Amino acid sequence: MSAVTPEIKARVEELRREINYHNHQYYVLDNPTITDGQYDQLVQELLRLENAYPELVTPDSPTQRVGGEIQKGFTAVQHRVPMLSLSNAFSENDLREFDRRVRSNLPGEEVEYVLELKIDGLAISLWYEQGVFVRGATRGDGELGEDITANLRTIKAIPLRIKESIPFLEVRGEAYMPKESFVRLNEAREEAGEPLFANPRNAAAGSLRQLDPRVTASRNLSVFMYAIGHLEGANPGTHARLLGWLKDLGFRVNQHYKLCKDIEEVIRQIDKWQEQRFELPYAIDGLVIKVNSLDQQQRLGATLKSPRWAIAYKFPAEQAVSTIKDIIIRV
Ligand code: NAD
Repeated sequence: MSAVTPEIKARVEELRREINYHNHQYYVLDNPTITDGQYDQLVQELLRLENAYPELVTPDSPTQRVGGEIQKGFTAVQHRVPMLSLSNAFSENDLREFDRRVRSNLPGEEVEYVLELKIDGLAISLWYEQGVFVRGATRGDGELGEDITANLRTIKAIPLRIKESIPFLEVRGEAYMPKESFVRLNEAREEAGEPLFANPRNAAAGSLRQLDPRVTASRNLSVFMYAIGHLEGANPGTHARLLGWLKDLGFRVNQHYKLCKDIEEVIRQIDKWQEQRFELPYAIDGLVIKVNSLDQQQRLGATLKSPRWAIAYKFPAEQAVSTIKDIIIRV
């Protein structure tokens, strides 16, 4: 391996500075100044350099931590289990590489995957005690989130009481703004001379992280739930059964998930969603692929930033093009 030169070290530091700046714009101010594709390219370049020169990896590098922060004015809440990000795949080969890594960690075992839509919103965590909604939070930096309980209570798709009084359930999912609401909100903001939101994800994040819940209530947000953070008193066994169970409890679960017997079946779905996503009433920026067995998920575990049992496949258009015109034109 070649030695680290001052130029390489300087480039790594410059990339970190730039990525941290864009993280702040995106996660704290809800106001990105570059497209997600441009951002992803910066991260990929940093990852390539860190892989080639591991001595340059530092614990505070943006590749090693979840991107968010706690905004002033919100109470911080500690997640019982960290809320992580997802590693990214940009090609079919990246998905096959992911599958190889998964199977090499589970020698001789069959591995099934669940394919889900990657909803372009922000991750939320909901706590239920004895079946009653008691607290809701953003992902924040993964360890600490923002308490947004009052705002989440205004979202009609979130049940205030679920159908079973399970002692404790933490359910996770995505809060999002439907495309139509996003376009209408931006039109109203334009008329009022206010700055526009860059995409539905930033609009949803800006609408949820409001100190006045009446503002959130006026923004027509919705949710899809797709994971468990912590559960006492039940074990659905597989991710596909978990989704069905969440639905039976009264949660809104996205209907377009698919159980696939191997990675090739996952890959065969990509073209279909690349086209069909424009017909959906909400924005998606890719697909999420998850190992189906919850036991295998647990054995695969996670790095500090992302689980080893899941990956996000990003659509090529999202990698290169700003989404706002795309969304407005195609609504
Ligand atoms: P991510 O968006 O790539 O993936 C993780 C997130 O996916 C989860 O936290 C969850 O909120 C979401 N998700 C949606 N549907 C899901 C499903 N079905 N199952 C599980 N999770 C699902 O990771 P991230 O850390 O939240 O954000 C990084 C991405 O944000 C970047 O790749 C980039 O696209 C964007 N970003 C852009 C800028 C910018 O300046 N444009 C800055 C920072 C981040």
